[in-house]
Amino acid sequence: MVTEDRDTAVAFLKKLWCEEKVVCPKCGKSVLEHLHKKAKKSNCDWKCPSCGEIYRTIHMLKALPRDRESQKPMEG
Ligand SMILES: [Zn+2]
Repeated sequence: MVTEDRDTAVAFLKKLWCEEKVVCPKCGKSVLEHLHKKAKKSNCDWKCPSCGEIYRTIHMLKALPRDRESQKPMEG
């Protein structure tokens, strides 16, 4: 995981899911493209054509630290 904080990681994932062009955060040379070009169904995995870094968005999402601060207990 190249992103350091949760907000950056979430923004990065959202861009990928929205099919936006995202420059590889590792090398910054190329726009990420689908890892499986032929399988249109599984478009959650992305790959950088320059450095070969693979970004599996589902895995990255699960690896994110839980945002406990925003989950306030319901009181009152
Ligand atoms: Zn790269």
